[in-house]
Amino acid sequence: MSEDKVGFIGVGNMGGPMAQNLVKAGRQLVVYDVRPDALAPFGNKIQVATSPAEVANVAEVVLVSLPRPEIVQDVVFGKDGIASGTRRRIVVDLSTTGPRVARAIANELKKEDVVALDGPVSGGVAGAIKGTVAVMLAGPKREADIVTPILSGMGKVFYIGSEPGMGQVMKLINNLLSATAQAATAEAVIMGTKYGLDPSLIIEVLNAGTGRNSATDSKWPNEVLPRRFKGGFAMGLMVKDLKLALDTADELHVPMWVHQAVKQIWLYAEGRGGPDQDITELVKHLEAWSGVTVKGK
Ligand code: NAD
Repeated sequence: MSEDKVGFIGVGNMGGPMAQNLVKAGRQLVVYDVRPDALAPFGNKIQVATSPAEVANVAEVVLVSLPRPEIVQDVVFGKDGIASGTRRRIVVDLSTTGPRVARAIANELKKEDVVALDGPVSGGVAGAIKGTVAVMLAGPKREADIVTPILSGMGKVFYIGSEPGMGQVMKLINNLLSATAQAATAEAVIMGTKYGLDPSLIIEVLNAGTGRNSATDSKWPNEVLPRRFKGGFAMGLMVKDLKLALDTADELHVPMWVHQAVKQIWLYAEGRGGPDQDITELVKHLEAWSGVTVKGK
């Protein structure tokens, strides 16, 4: 199977560099994206398909990296979707779509003799470019073992469990903490800045101390302090992840006092600045409350 073409649908901020790494690893790809400009960077290194079905007519393994759950469902089951292809045997959803959609897709595809795996990723665009994303793979072990050598070209594969949706829950746990780290860091650094401390020094000290987290160690030095705000993850997608996570917690009757508050902060920021802002722009909305701007030297 390794010599077969691998299907890849959705080559945006994450899918683009991940697919590029598969090409670099020697994989032959057949790719579909609704945006022709997303395909341009590949030149003639890939086969371009005109629909998800065309991808699934060529490839046994089809990877998808799409923005939202409803888009994934449409690409799999809609007109000219993956399900209507002739060769597809394994579909891996690299997007963050939540456990309910992962289970629904797996159950529906099973009727077509296709195995669905969920393999959401973490590591951001920087990790996608470097080939160091964490892939949280779940679903039947046999098929997981078949796709692991392929996915290893994008980063490190963790097998989370045999039930569809387990990888999604792992990813939602990760993003709850990532969203919390960003919100909490913004509040704390704004307080220090308003008192007169130097924001660059605050971040430097936090990274040498116990306040260190995923916001202080990369997002703040690279994106917030230089006021660059180009991390490559849209705020609307983070809000989607928080909603999926809190829906899952509700279904499980797990109280989430901290994360409910974190969700409110992100909803507020999305409401003010729209879903297309970069997630690192969250701080701007908290600055507006406090009347300070946090800028590095
Ligand atoms: P993106 O919007 O940059 O990329 C999505 C790609 O899908 C785009 O190129 C778009 O043209 C394409 N697309 C949309 N609808 C399509 C359709 N019907 N058929 C084919 N292609 C279609 O999004 P992204 O940031 O790459 O995120 C993708 C997924 O990965 C999301 O679920 C997101 O939550 C998750 N994720 C993102 C990051 C990040 O840092 N950006 C990190 C981890 C996980």
